[in-house]
Amino acid sequence: MSIAAGVDVGSLSTKAVIIKSNKIIGFAIIKSGPKPVESANKVMEQLLNQTGIVQNDIKRAVGTGYGREKITFIDNAISEISCHAKGAQFFVSSARTIIDIGGQDCKVIKLDQDGNIIKFITNDKCASGTGRFLDVMAQVMNIDVSELGKLSQKSTKPISFASICTVWAQADVIKHINSRRPAEDICAGINAAMANRVSMMTNAIKVEKDICMTGGVAKNQGVVKALSSILGCKIKRIKKADPQLIGAIGAALFAQEKI
Ligand code: ADP
Repeated sequence: MSIAAGVDVGSLSTKAVIIKSNKIIGFAIIKSGPKPVESANKVMEQLLNQTGIVQNDIKRAVGTGYGREKITFIDNAISEISCHAKGAQFFVSSARTIIDIGGQDCKVIKLDQDGNIIKFITNDKCASGTGRFLDVMAQVMNIDVSELGKLSQKSTKPISFASICTVWAQADVIKHINSRRPAEDICAGINAAMANRVSMMTNAIKVEKDICMTGGVAKNQGVVKALSSILGCKIKRIKKADPQLIGAIGAALFAQEKI
């Protein structure tokens, strides 16, 4: 059996995917712990239990994510940039710009017509423009981060935040909660602030169509919509897989190629 696996140890979540002949046959997502090696072992164990596949059946495994070098059961490690590009192109072959927003960083990757990476930029210095910004705001609002997108869709008067800095925006959110502004308008403001910050990065690299979003934040429809509107073109959503899994899927595809 030519089964391949991809493991993405991210700052907030660890993901694993098993593929066979280009088909996803199982996946698992867990919270990352302090030790990447333990997170990788745990997610893989969960995935093997779920699928009934044994480790020996996996012919090749590739690791990615910030903790990739620490994974013990992989054959090789590949950068997140390459894995997200590979995974995104698998689902959206026309993708020329990939925006990956994870828990603690944001990357914009540009591809040429043949799918080769020609440029990329990363923000891993500041929480604004990363999933962390949304997590902090959701916590202040006492909602789950997964609700930010849905709630913002109901907004009629989105709030405009004066600052995109996480600390100042947090104070602003508290102020608006206290002055009883509707939660949906605050959520729409949060998503727009996030989209604004990310658009500064994407504009620095000059986006080209088609644009595709990956990473956990791509699950937030409010951010995807706000970013599409700022960039003036529709961001293609990956429908056939969870966007949070794209790095792990890319890693599994690299592994499959080498079998
Ligand atoms: P990393 O790889 O850096 O660990 P992820 O790609 O897993 O990061 O993305 C984590 C981020 O995704 C979180 O900070 C959160 O903002 C966002 N996120 C995770 N799950 C959801 C969800 N169900 N709906 C909306 N946003 C989500």
